[in-house]
Amino acid sequence: MQTCTRCLYTSQHPLHLTFDSQGVCSGCRVHEEKDQLDWSGRAAKLGQILEGYRNRSGNNYDCVIPVSGARDSYFIVHTIRKRFGLNPLLVTYNKHFNTATGVRNLANLRTRMDCDIMTLTVNPVTVKNITRHTMRRMGSMYWHCIAGQTVYPVQVAVKFKIPLIVWGAHQGVDQVGMYSHLDEVEMTRKYRKEHDLMGCEAEDIVDDFDGISEQDVAPFFYPDNREIERVGVRGIYLNNYLRWDSRSQHEQMIREYGYETLQQTRTFDTYHDVDCWNYSDVHDYIKYLKLGYGKVTDHACREIRLRRMTRSEGAALVQKFATLEPRNLNLFLDWLGITRNAFQYIVDQHRSPAVWRRNESWDWEMTPEAASALSFVPLPGQELQVETRHSDYWQTTPGKSTDADNRYILIGKGVNA
Ligand SMILES: [Zn+2]
Repeated sequence: MQTCTRCLYTSQHPLHLTFDSQGVCSGCRVHEEKDQLDWSGRAAKLGQILEGYRNRSGNNYDCVIPVSGARDSYFIVHTIRKRFGLNPLLVTYNKHFNTATGVRNLANLRTRMDCDIMTLTVNPVTVKNITRHTMRRMGSMYWHCIAGQTVYPVQVAVKFKIPLIVWGAHQGVDQVGMYSHLDEVEMTRKYRKEHDLMGCEAEDIVDDFDGISEQDVAPFFYPDNREIERVGVRGIYLNNYLRWDSRSQHEQMIREYGYETLQQTRTFDTYHDVDCWNYSDVHDYIKYLKLGYGKVTDHACREIRLRRMTRSEGAALVQKFATLEPRNLNLFLDWLGITRNAFQYIVDQHRSPAVWRRNESWDWEMTPEAASALSFVPLPGQELQVETRHSDYWQTTPGKSTDADNRYILIGKGVNA
């Protein structure tokens, strides 16, 4: 197992990294392009692409934007609506694990940006059946969320004949450097299946044992290729055209539109996944139990590459957060109707043998190789120098809403709705 000499990713990263002769990972190398590319030229290119999709007849939207009550949604809509002046249709997949903060953020987004929004809420019985199945099958409580949020925008684009979908950052570019920004990689069904869905399409989870019929998973079916081609649907990623800096972008959105932050359980970033009880909590803890790392590593790597923290500072944050237990596990167990023992048993089936092993007293411990890769020994002389120091992550004052703030909210109105 290898650890990058610049950031904190190891060769265990599920999106697959490569390392060069200096031990620097592909993610860090592609990230260097952020300081080399002509970003004003690239933004102009984005403008040309968008112009080609402006609906001149005025009888349809110009593009589809997938959004949630968090995670770059404000910045994407701000860019398309305010900077480039297009009329987008917002679409959102209901994750069922909604926080009051996320519901308010979504309400505030559609109001302040003056946009129409469509929501897909799959019925709760089906969502639980699917979650039981994907927990057992691949140790994932989040499959339905990822499947839903990556397919619903495509379905809407096809159905309403809106040929352009605008996404934020492509993780294959921004995290692991699978592609260069100059590749201008676009949305594909293949990447979604292999990386977002861990190889498991909706068709694969039809299962009599869990009571999942083909009809149940129909909301997660990818539209037929012929339909996609007939409408000419393509999905572009803004980070290929704009120098992506999620933290600064969120701070701009807090200042300009009142985006709300929320303290997270297992990471220092208070901006990213504030709409969900589980993403940086139970879901992230499962990821740690499977692969030995969590969201805090992604956030620390991002800050190291943007030269806002040293590798050692990032490593200290990873050590602090990565092993923390989730706060919201009971909420999830009650929702799904399983015991803590059952949860633990299921997750243990999916631990990576490269990272975890049983010790003599049958407790789980990291393999020596993983422990050594994750010890992040300081590498003097090889680290990037810090150029700017941000203040602490901002904490906004929670807005007022009638939605409960201590449980999942299936359908909430937020504050401005
Ligand atoms: Zn790296």
